[in-house]
Amino acid sequence: MEDGSRRVAELDTGFFVRWLTETASAVDREADRLTELDSAIGDADHGSNLRRGFTAVTAALTDKPPPSPGAALGLAGRTLVSKVGGASGPLYGTLLRRTGRELGDAATVSREELARAMSTGVEAVAALGGAAEGDKTMLDALLPAVRALPESFTAARRAAAEGAVGTVPMRARRGRASYLGERSIGHEDPGAASSLLLVAALERSWEAADE
Ligand code: ADP
Ligand code: MG
Repeated sequence: MEDGSRRVAELDTGFFVRWLTETASAVDREADRLTELDSAIGDADHGSNLRRGFTAVTAALTDKPPPSPGAALGLAGRTLVSKVGGASGPLYGTLLRRTGRELGDAATVSREELARAMSTGVEAVAALGGAAEGDKTMLDALLPAVRALPESFTAARRAAAEGAVGTVPMRARRGRASYLGERSIGHEDPGAASSLLLVAALERSWEAADE
């Protein structure tokens, strides 16, 4: 169902664990495509980087069930930072850790609270990487998604999908792809593609909560 019609959306720890493990499954399924995108404008490791990272996230969540939504995101973020060597590890790690810190130790959060926390997390990614919207990075999917999140999870996923496709005509100004200059034009940014997986998993976890 269209989640915007729901009166209150209380998201508990189980929801966040499901979100992260759903993301891990999606990354595992799509790893070859992510690596293919990265082979066009990077060094062909984005899929394997994220697969290694999110496999470890799933293991960590099983090993040490987190007590709160914020703790789940913090554990996932720390795991990504420690397991992923590429730029995307610290960037996604910062997103999840910063978002988790904003949520504090609340047992449940509303979608609006998650949207505010994630927006702070995405700003931290921008600060860490020195990138802005239009630079052909993960931010081009993440920023529109967090802007749409107060409306619904579905709106956020659609915004992320549009944002990812929107990176195709862009010229990269940050990260490895920027070394290619004009030649980066005409390819989807791998990090924007993986950010869509993260946001799509959010929507699926919400739909699963309905069943
Ligand atoms: P690496 O570039 O070190 O090989 P990955 O291939 O895992 O790391 O990730 C590449 C992705 O990371 C890019 O497609 C882009 O979306 C994102 N990225 C790289 N540098 C930056 C940056 N400075 N700011 C934001 N995102 C970035
Ligand atoms: Mg790479």
